[in-house]
Amino acid sequence: TGTVETLEFQSEARQLLQLMIHSIYSNKDIFLRELVSNASDALDKLRLETYRDKDLRAETDNLHIEILLDADARTLTVRDNGIGMSRDDVVNLIGTIAKSGTADFLRKLKESKESAGQDLIGQFGVGFYSSFMVADKVTLVTRRAGDGEGVRWESTGEGTYTIESLADAPQGTSVTLHLKPADDEDHLYDYTSPWKVREIVKRYSDFITWPVQMAKEGDEEGLETVNSMKALWARSKDEVSDEEYHEFYKHISHDWTDPLETVRMQAEGTFEYQALLFLPSRAPVDLFMRDAKRGVQLYVKRVFIMDDCEALMPNYLRFVKGVVDAADLSLNVSREILQQDRQIRAIRRRLEKKILSTVKTMMTEEAEKYATFWSEFGRAVKEGLIDDPENREQILEISSFDSTHHAEKPTSLRDYVSRMKEGQEHIYYLTGDSRTVIENSPHLEAFRAKGYEVLILTDPVDEMWTESASGFDGKTFQSVAKGEVDLGDETSDEKKAEYEDLLKWMSATLTDTVKEVRLSSRLTTSPSCIVGDAGDLTPTLEKMYRAMGQ
Ligand code: ADP
Ligand code: MG
Repeated sequence: TGTVETLEFQSEARQLLQLMIHSIYSNKDIFLRELVSNASDALDKLRLETYRDKDLRAETDNLHIEILLDADARTLTVRDNGIGMSRDDVVNLIGTIAKSGTADFLRKLKESKESAGQDLIGQFGVGFYSSFMVADKVTLVTRRAGDGEGVRWESTGEGTYTIESLADAPQGTSVTLHLKPADDEDHLYDYTSPWKVREIVKRYSDFITWPVQMAKEGDEEGLETVNSMKALWARSKDEVSDEEYHEFYKHISHDWTDPLETVRMQAEGTFEYQALLFLPSRAPVDLFMRDAKRGVQLYVKRVFIMDDCEALMPNYLRFVKGVVDAADLSLNVSREILQQDRQIRAIRRRLEKKILSTVKTMMTEEAEKYATFWSEFGRAVKEGLIDDPENREQILEISSFDSTHHAEKPTSLRDYVSRMKEGQEHIYYLTGDSRTVIENSPHLEAFRAKGYEVLILTDPVDEMWTESASGFDGKTFQSVAKGEVDLGDETSDEKKAEYEDLLKWMSATLTDTVKEVRLSSRLTTSPSCIVGDAGDLTPTLEKMYRAMGQ
């Protein structure tokens, strides 16, 4: 045993701990889910390490999670014999919060009212720190697999923690909670009750693929496994409840909110695989960050292989969470191999199609759910219109756009087409920085007067896909700001003659600025507007390219 050092939590970690201590989250039971989840991750990591590093001197017998209760000492301990942590790991992983968006989250929380705070914290996984909702002191003892020395960490969650080396400690991690005094007459918060704890494990962690063991009732020596360990995706569909799916989603996604939609797939034959996918109900903060995590988990015959397997999901569907369990891959498969694997590519195509068809069904059968989906993920999905020409028609089918038809409600293209006026040949759109800017554009005047609907496209990605998309349902996309828009009412020859001199004079005067000055049927009240050539960049694109230095 070495000297005891006292260290400070990183400031964001300190703030989160304060929230936990003052227990802003109403369902305290979930601390156990978090600890079991971490233990399960640690066992997965150990198994993976031993595949990769044959020389790792790790114990791999009897891998399991154990929950020990001591009613007299009022402690609850969750221990695993998984990968464990080195001293640096403990300082970096437990003493700080690396999660992206933490600062942003804390700021929002500070600004929000009390009740909204409850709501917010429910969306932000606090993992290990949730222990401090029920404990006034937490002791963690750990040894990284293969290391000689262990580490003991302890804290009351009030700003600092102590850390010391241990000459010997068992492989893996044990977390001991010194429980706060029970404050409830019917033992609602008595986490030393075996019955209570067993029930929580069953409820939140039944699907964990490692045994969670507790002392057998009436038999101090023997242990029994509390969870069924059945992989959810391997069970028949109607055998699994929504709640079980939701808990599983929370385990793999580290999200605290229920998913919007659960998708199951099963394929037999040449490529045998099972998939259990989820559409989250809100976008992660890093959805548009370059180094954001993406992709689903890959298993091979129930054995966890990797997180964030990007080869299985196209980039524009990077928010989809879940598990794919493939039967015929090697356990040693690497990311590089996966990128080129024909079978993996085939699976990805199938998953992509399934997600698109799921959203399509949602669109017709659960409009409100779809609206949530689109407002959270639409911007990402539209990237698929550029990245994936093969599925462009299907992606357009599930897309929604703001339009002049309704001030708030976006429209599908199918609905747009069904409202097209007699004689209207194109799907009209205008891109710009904001709805207000677009609505005040003189380009819209004649279309408005004619009763033609115009899509209002304000996302940067809209500038890109409209360049390459040919059309939808046989109708081409046409920008109202480009080229000669034929609205069917030709300017009469007399009019042309009448204005000829003026136009000539204007063309000559403006020769350095514009290519041509012509009479327009676009305008009803504005005297003039600037129009691009059909092949020109839109002003926004031009700005984007300039900003990129091109
Ligand atoms: P998350 O699980 O979302 O990463 P947590 O707060 O639950 O966040 O845990 C933080 C980190 O601490 C984990 O990512 C992991 O690296 C480490 N950790 C926590 N518990 C254990 C454990 N039982 N064994 C090994 N590492 C652990
Ligand atoms: Mg965790």
